[in-house]
Amino acid sequence: MSFRPPKGTDDIGAPESNRWRDILRQWDTWADRFGYPLVMTPIFESTDLFERGVGEDTEVVTKQMYTFTDRGGRSLTLRPEGTAGVVRAFLDSGARGAWKGAYSGPMFRHERPQAGRRRQFWQLGVEYLDVEGPAADAEVIELGYRFLSAVDVPGLKVVVNSLGDTVCRPGYMTTLGSYLEERREMLCDDSLALIDVNPLRILDCTVCAPVLADAPAMKDHLCEPCAGHYGLVKKSLDGLSIPFEEDARLVRGLDYYTRTAFEYIATQLDAAQNAVGGGGRYDGLAESIGGRRAPGVGFALGVDRIVLASGKDAGSQADVYLVSETGPENALIAASGLRLAGLSVDFDTEGRRVEAQFKSASRTGARALVVLKGDGDEVDVRIGGEREQMGLDAVPEWLGDRL
Ligand SMILES: [Zn+2]
Ligand SMILES: [Zn+2]
Repeated sequence: MSFRPPKGTDDIGAPESNRWRDILRQWDTWADRFGYPLVMTPIFESTDLFERGVGEDTEVVTKQMYTFTDRGGRSLTLRPEGTAGVVRAFLDSGARGAWKGAYSGPMFRHERPQAGRRRQFWQLGVEYLDVEGPAADAEVIELGYRFLSAVDVPGLKVVVNSLGDTVCRPGYMTTLGSYLEERREMLCDDSLALIDVNPLRILDCTVCAPVLADAPAMKDHLCEPCAGHYGLVKKSLDGLSIPFEEDARLVRGLDYYTRTAFEYIATQLDAAQNAVGGGGRYDGLAESIGGRRAPGVGFALGVDRIVLASGKDAGSQADVYLVSETGPENALIAASGLRLAGLSVDFDTEGRRVEAQFKSASRTGARALVVLKGDGDEVDVRIGGEREQMGLDAVPEWLGDRL
């Protein structure tokens, strides 16, 4: 029996999981601040939801999905991304008018595992539905930016582009298609296969980069409403003092984006894995999965990548380590009192020698030490360079000012 988890997955424990917990807590705080309630959808969905919602000819659908038949003969798929499920849930709820939802949870894709890319990976995201105005796009981009700044992703950069809509994109695709057609012999095999399917997706091919440097750009072919929308998104980002760059080759991997597309880049990571997340506007998605028209905008961020990008000290599990000279039963009661008063406390339940308890205390990295003395009520409290004797009851207030 091997105890290794399946290929492409990892067990994540302390201290790395302390960092995860911190990131997930910050996410709750920021999503809440922007008015996004939690939405929880199933981890598996009907396979056709992703075929229609993500796009039948996308790499995600053709090569990466975990699809299985259940005991009732239904084809189900472990969700490879969060948007399709949330939009389905929104349509099912019958809600009308501006609707917000934030999600957080594991996603699954059968990819070649590497640093920052697991087959089970964790995404955080929001969807803002039944909204059309550029302020919605800017608000969504801002939320991701504020959150990533709060969790200390170093060298954070926002990249934006506009992908047009059903009015102006077809004409642009034709222009781009003939540009690429004339340079067929310089394109890689993957790009050649896409030339008649979706030439837009060739734009982010790194192998073909030299051919693409002078390719026509979508932003120069936008219809008037799309150009106006894009202009207002950029103006709003300026107004919010969010630094961004434009990149005409940013197309994202999924078929459903219209108009605004954006990515968050951690410039200090290797180029292959420096996108910590991204998103865009997807005005046609609700219809493509069989629902009514419900324009929307959203993003997804990869927590695995965020953890990799912000190699910050993971912090300790508890604020206080309680050392007992009088046995674990007394420590249990004392720790309980401190915990009910709001402190985070750990102690030794095994009745080991005091020296061993001190060693455990320094290993956990707890910032404060409370030593339970002889009669059990008088304690010795230490934090930083300070040291003070007091009754157990006085500890929460005294430490509360210093932690
Ligand atoms: Zn290529
Ligand atoms: Zn347009």
